[in-house]
Amino acid sequence: MRIAIVGGGASGVLAGILLKMYRPEYEVTIYEQNDRVLKKLLSTGNGMCNFDNINSNDANNYNNELIKDLINKYDYKFIVSLFKELGIASFIDDEGRIYPYSRKASNVVTILMANLKLYNVNVRCNELVYDVRIVNNKYYINNSEYDICIFACGGCASINYDYNFKDICRSLGLNWIRNYPSLTALKVKENVKAMSGLRLKGNVSYYRGTKEDLKLIERRNGEILFKDDGLSGIVMFELSRNYDPKYINKVKIDLFDCLNNKELEDMIQTNYHKFLSLPDALIGLVPKMVGLDVIKRENNDIRNIANCLKNYEFSIIGLYDYNYAQVMRGGLDLKELDINSFESLKYKDLYFIGEGVDIDGTCGGFNLHFAWVSAICAVKNILKIKRGQE
Ligand SMILES: Cc1cc2nc3c(=O)[nH]c(=O)nc-3n(C[C@H](O)[C@H](O)[C@H](O)COP(=O)(O)OP(=O)(O)OC[C@H]3O[C@@H](n4cnc5c(N)ncnc54)[C@H](O)[C@@H]3O)c2cc1C
Repeated sequence: MRIAIVGGGASGVLAGILLKMYRPEYEVTIYEQNDRVLKKLLSTGNGMCNFDNINSNDANNYNNELIKDLINKYDYKFIVSLFKELGIASFIDDEGRIYPYSRKASNVVTILMANLKLYNVNVRCNELVYDVRIVNNKYYINNSEYDICIFACGGCASINYDYNFKDICRSLGLNWIRNYPSLTALKVKENVKAMSGLRLKGNVSYYRGTKEDLKLIERRNGEILFKDDGLSGIVMFELSRNYDPKYINKVKIDLFDCLNNKELEDMIQTNYHKFLSLPDALIGLVPKMVGLDVIKRENNDIRNIANCLKNYEFSIIGLYDYNYAQVMRGGLDLKELDINSFESLKYKDLYFIGEGVDIDGTCGGFNLHFAWVSAICAVKNILKIKRGQE
């Protein structure tokens, strides 16, 4: 049995290792266009590889409920024990994020590469797959013949090569859901250049809808980083998943969830009586540039300034591009696949796993969780064995 895996990222590498672990007699080849496998994994979790999350079985963390059963079946405990089998010990941080005990993504990459070698997976680096043909149920990948093919091409966030997976899908007549950058910074209409570099903590509410009907979509607490023309920070990355250009998109930041409007107004009023200038009255509350911005927005009115600090509003006019994003939203339409195995409904023995499929998750290990789970599902279908019965 000859199996080709296109893409040597998280999902492709795990699929390759598992296939050879359980069927050493199979010939498994990974095609990777980079000069080495797992390049993206190196930058995950700020170089620490946040590879899973204790809430990864909660479907609310993904864009599609269809994977609910799968993520319940293969939860973080399953992945943690599989990683242990591969030689990677892990720990859970205070927020439920799971990391390798070494706290180093490079160690995870090294161990996964050692497993590829141990199980004799062929790895062909510097080999871009550009030609995919299907003739008499055989797959021709750059002219080499295979019985089974797994596409594990990932998404186009933070890459430095031409992404051709979309074209491959289209050449096979498969439907593609329009892709957007996700887990990225938000571009805002307001001029925030003067505040660029500032970090603030706040409760951020995301609103989306029409002028007449603007609905609260999500609320998250965290650190906001001002950029030249937008808002960044993990909280904004997470909220960026709500962006829809068809609607009005806004965020409102409550910079003082410890004080209500009246208390905040009283405090500004008291400061103003003491210091006799509004910028000085605000200096003990917020960074100077934020103070100046709200004074200008609210035309020196103290009540409105207090309200503004509790509802600091920004209109979202777009997302930062793929260079800045952590994942791609959209991808191969899930309707093209059997959701339990990720096998194509149109072509037998053709599988699609990982971020290239229209599944994306929020920050915190969810995207890698899906990469691992989809690889396991495909492999299990290929091997037709149940884990625990091997
Ligand atoms: C900066 C950053 C930080 C992140 N941090 C986290 C985190 O902490 N936790 C988390 O869960 N997720 C994180 N992610 C997201 C996570 O890395 C991805 O969701 C995950 O790697 C997807 O795995 P994959 O196997 O689908 O694709 P990838 O890991 O992207 O691998 C796809 C591979 O396919 C190769 N390829 C593509 N097309 C071809 C072709 N035609 N021929 C040959 N090779 C091809 C690519 O070169 C690539 O190596 C982060 C992403 C970024 C960019």
